[in-house]
Amino acid sequence: MALTFDKSIAFHKEAVEMIPGGVNSPVRAFRSVDMNPIYVKEAQGAKVVDVDGNPYIDYIGSWGPLIIGHAHPQVVKRIEQALHRGTSFGLPTELEIEMAREVTKRMPSVDVVRMVNSGTEATMSALRLARAYTGRSRILKFVGSYHGHSDGLLIRAGSGVATLGLPDSPGVPKEVAQYTMTVPYNNAESFTKVMEQYGNDVAAVIVEPIAGNMGVVPPLPGFLQTLREITEKYGTVLIFDEVMTGYRVDYYSAQGLYQVTPDLTTMGKVIGGGLPVGAYGGRREIMELVAPQGSVYQAGTLSGNPLAMAAGLATLEQLTEEAYQKLERAAAKLAEGIIQSGQETKIPVQINRVGSMVGLFFSDQPVTNYQQALQSNNDLFLKYYQQMVNEGILLAPSQYEGMFVSTAHTDEMIEQTVAIIRRVFKKLAT
Ligand code: PLP
Repeated sequence: MALTFDKSIAFHKEAVEMIPGGVNSPVRAFRSVDMNPIYVKEAQGAKVVDVDGNPYIDYIGSWGPLIIGHAHPQVVKRIEQALHRGTSFGLPTELEIEMAREVTKRMPSVDVVRMVNSGTEATMSALRLARAYTGRSRILKFVGSYHGHSDGLLIRAGSGVATLGLPDSPGVPKEVAQYTMTVPYNNAESFTKVMEQYGNDVAAVIVEPIAGNMGVVPPLPGFLQTLREITEKYGTVLIFDEVMTGYRVDYYSAQGLYQVTPDLTTMGKVIGGGLPVGAYGGRREIMELVAPQGSVYQAGTLSGNPLAMAAGLATLEQLTEEAYQKLERAAAKLAEGIIQSGQETKIPVQINRVGSMVGLFFSDQPVTNYQQALQSNNDLFLKYYQQMVNEGILLAPSQYEGMFVSTAHTDEMIEQTVAIIRRVFKKLAT
């Protein structure tokens, strides 16, 4: 029986009158899947219930942060404890030291870390710092990567490799965009060529060590190592944007998994435990330039907020080596189930997975970059998406976002999900 969304529809009708598109972040509008947004009533563990009372197994996980599930008792407890002591002081607290201790322990490339309030702030601040450190203006990013919505990063590729960047949004001045160069992800050769020409002018190369905003696209063997070698050669700051991968794919994040050491790292999502958090950190020599120790200005009324620190610390506490093994087992089981279902039903499906990030593309070709991701079948995704929701599986409403598995996903839930996927694939195949 089809689910009904009467309350979600009524809420959205009112919301669009007062909020742009009815939502506070564009993808929540569900436009790419041609649906009304689903309004959430409550969530616990891996289960979400919408305002119409429909229950779901959730693979959005707030777009990454909720690696131990919704409303985890320890997270709730730590937030509650902090809450009763006051929500914000504009003065430092011990929790910020605890967080810095945890971050520097788990990210060995990070000697010094500054907390901010979002991933966007983290990447924006890291770039300013890299420019100050090198005295250069240009930056280089990879096509299809998302690093938040600051002007210099909201850039798409020009018509050819290393052409001037073009603004991806009205309101971004072309004078700003021109400093951002773009190169295809996973193309070490093209990256090397561009650096041969411009390397001495490039302040920073910023990369998602596992691309997570074009679907899940892992780095090809040697790609990250090439970035490290070439940036070192030209004195360019290498920034790993681990806002999504940080504390998700491994105890030591993507940089630990691939054994590549960046100069700076940006973080967010998981370390906020579901509250608004970002962070940037790295080599002492570079971080010493940040105010007030140095002269690179960056500040925040709510930075290091005690509730956010409490939620993040409670989350990290749960993320032991065993927790990552559990995530690996659950996500592998899900991925294998999807691959099998694709084979049985002859639905062309590619699964890219690193740890608990599981990416699905409707394509018969491997996906290793944005161009290939774009070639996957969007019509099929739309039908798949709508049927999955109707069967009680909540996925990010975009083919270009992975499924996030959490420690709250039980074996039973994974099995149930795979059974539903098989059923939906069968319907799509007929
Ligand atoms: N960097 C990456 C890799 C991201 O995935 C995101 C958000 O999805 C951001 C930066 C921006 O983070 P925020 O949405 O917290 O500003």
